[in-house]
Amino acid sequence: MAFTKLLAGVYCADHRVAEGKNGVIFGNARALVIDVGTDPQEGSELATFVQQAGFAPSRVVLTHGHSDHVLGGAAFEGAEVFASSLIHDHMRQHLRRFAERKGLHYAELLAQALKPTITFNDELTIDLGGKVVRLFPAPGHSPDGICAYLEQDRLLFASDTVVTGIVPAINDGDSAVLENSLTKIRRMEIEILVPGHGSVLYGSAAIQEWLTWEIAYLSSIRSAIAEVLAEKPSADDEMIALAAPFQRLIGGRFPKDRHNMDSRHRATVLKIAAEERVHQGIVAISEGQE
Ligand SMILES: [Zn+2]
Repeated sequence: MAFTKLLAGVYCADHRVAEGKNGVIFGNARALVIDVGTDPQEGSELATFVQQAGFAPSRVVLTHGHSDHVLGGAAFEGAEVFASSLIHDHMRQHLRRFAERKGLHYAELLAQALKPTITFNDELTIDLGGKVVRLFPAPGHSPDGICAYLEQDRLLFASDTVVTGIVPAINDGDSAVLENSLTKIRRMEIEILVPGHGSVLYGSAAIQEWLTWEIAYLSSIRSAIAEVLAEKPSADDEMIALAAPFQRLIGGRFPKDRHNMDSRHRATVLKIAAEERVHQGIVAISEGQE
């Protein structure tokens, strides 16, 4: 696992899913790990990094319950684990679907996942001694999403609420809710933004530009789909996909073949279509999608 120093005492650590990023923050008194990676090996590398700096790996934030953020839990047994109070249900739902998709055993995955010990609804502040981390809800990618903000350094660990290596992903969340979270983050004066997947963004201008693009991407897809469904409520997924083509929505921002971007874009489009069919009363309940 490669560790990159962002500021004195603040690091990000790459995990292997689509340029994934974990975080490590060292205060004077304590260390905090943000997400534990995709498997026990990655979790153990994070814990070792903390120990080598002279700290106990005894505090962790889980930004949400998705597999690539929680499955490196073994090395953090006994730690205080902070997360949204919504994580319990969503971690289980997600891991069940993940297990089905990958042909794995749900019970084994759930046992491997780090479990929260301290959950919150609104905000939570963690004082590491000289570094204060504010956790706040940022749902949309998933309902249990939170971000970790180092206000004094204007550095945000955004997790999958903001992604720079892949197109915005909604998974078990909601695109309009994600847009709200992105808008809220755009109002903060962030100087360094660590996304859940992709390269770190530096400087408020670059951060504003990226967030503005992500918001426009989601709303452009939604209006293209709304138009199709208004004209033809029975439009199927193929018609929907044609109305929101990769080239028009994404242009040169991402190569089509990187991280299966084409199918990631399609997944986001079809998720927004499912939401839109509910909003327009075409179907009663969103089927959602993984
Ligand atoms: Zn996720």
